Amino acid sequence: MRPALINGCFCGNIFVNLLLHPLTGSSWYVYICIEVANPYRTLPSVDRLLSDERLKKTCDLYGQMALVDLIRDELGDARQAIATGRPPPTLNDLVEGVERRAQTILRPTLRPVINATGVIIQTNLGRAPLSDETVSAMAAVSRGYSNLEFDLDAGERGSRYAHLENLLCRITGAEAAMAVNNNAAALLLGLSALAQGAEVVISRGQAVEIGGGFRIPDVMRQSGVHLVEVGTTNRTYLRDYEDAIGANSAAIMRVHASNFRIVGFTESPSLAEMAALAHERGLPLFDDLGSGSLIDTSQFGLAREPMVQESVQAGADLVFFSSDKLLGGPQAGIIVGRRDLIQQLRRHPLARALRLDKATIAGLSATLMHYLRGEALAKLPVWRMVSLKEEDLWRRARRWMRAVGPPASMAPGRSMVGGGSLPEESLPTWLLAIPQSEGIDITELARRFRLNEPAVIGRIERDVLLLDPRTVHPREDAALIAVVKSALSLQRS
Ligand SMILES: *Cc1c(COP(=O)(O)O)cnc(C)c1O
Repeated sequence: MRPALINGCFCGNIFVNLLLHPLTGSSWYVYICIEVANPYRTLPSVDRLLSDERLKKTCDLYGQMALVDLIRDELGDARQAIATGRPPPTLNDLVEGVERRAQTILRPTLRPVINATGVIIQTNLGRAPLSDETVSAMAAVSRGYSNLEFDLDAGERGSRYAHLENLLCRITGAEAAMAVNNNAAALLLGLSALAQGAEVVISRGQAVEIGGGFRIPDVMRQSGVHLVEVGTTNRTYLRDYEDAIGANSAAIMRVHASNFRIVGFTESPSLAEMAALAHERGLPLFDDLGSGSLIDTSQFGLAREPMVQESVQAGADLVFFSSDKLLGGPQAGIIVGRRDLIQQLRRHPLARALRLDKATIAGLSATLMHYLRGEALAKLPVWRMVSLKEEDLWRRARRWMRAVGPPASMAPGRSMVGGGSLPEESLPTWLLAIPQSEGIDITELARRFRLNEPAVIGRIERDVLLLDPRTVHPREDAALIAVVKSALSLQRS
């Protein structure tokens, strides 16, 4: 008769077996059998793992130094696991473990994705994609030195603000201009430099939250400005502003309600009326346009997003807007308006803290050149997407559908402009639609799309996963189709 194994476990590097051995008759003997087996010995060396063929690609990607660290971590964890009594991992386990670590720890977390949401200016997905000329200009000044703050003509120190001012003034009609890190920074700078310790009058309906927790009243407070809200949420009259202006007033401010609309029983004075009142009282008028547009959006069947040129013309003394919303450029905040005020902003210590780097200045300049040359609609991806024709979108969606096959179908839908501009406005489009059905879990499918390299981001509406070609560049079509097909086949297998 064979001995029965009751229990066996590692204690350090000693393997203890508890055995029951039947002797003749009914008595059993208990044996404790101690084996000096060393499971740690089965672990490969760092060098063995490092030279494993399967890790060659990872090694090429991230370098030997980083990989050695990961291998040490993996082996360390394996030793700990053994110490707690678990069996030693196989070589395969270790290789996979190291690869997993490389994926989660070393792979850059910021990477390109395919935006198939149909929201053109998606803040979570990096807002405006840039024109080829913009990207080239950014690369060109980044690779080497540049005359960022050097006047080539005079051979002496120059101003980094000089590079954008002429262009911005030409395009908007303003007499002076500058740009900083983003529009939030532009507002912080403008209010801090010109209204700190004083009052700024603003309509109650405009003391809004823009998104991501960014609230106009908070920025005003942060700038040391005392906010004086006037009127009611839906109605503010010129006389409300008039009554609120006092000895301690520094400015009147208008904020464009970017991401919502108050409709119905509403009232607000025109910008020109507000400017006239402000100037009569010797105050500047600030206008935060949010997105602002340099192009009339009504030509695309959309509502009219306020235009920067119009604000300048209406008499706003400083106009603030983002350069990565409808402008279609890299992230920055632009301020255009009165020369004396812009000069004050440039001299303020915050200007240094919020200033643009050379790549952004070069990129923004290249983006603005498209407007100057009258080619913005053709060259800037944001405007190209806005102006895509429904027939072309239908053709793209049909091509996707044919390539993917059932259960994918086509459906009419709407694309959004996004970026806090034109709320409730949308453009007609055609979508690739994958319904929730037997064998297809669209939540899981959407997750697979996201985990792909590159990730594909769609949207789910009423249990249908939708992909909008409007926001997908044609050069991304092949990658998108491949992702959809492989994710679908994985689910059905
Ligand atoms: C988007 C927006 C901002 C903030 O601009 P950023 O460039 O994101 O800093 C400020 N005001 C309004 C009205 C906006 O729509």
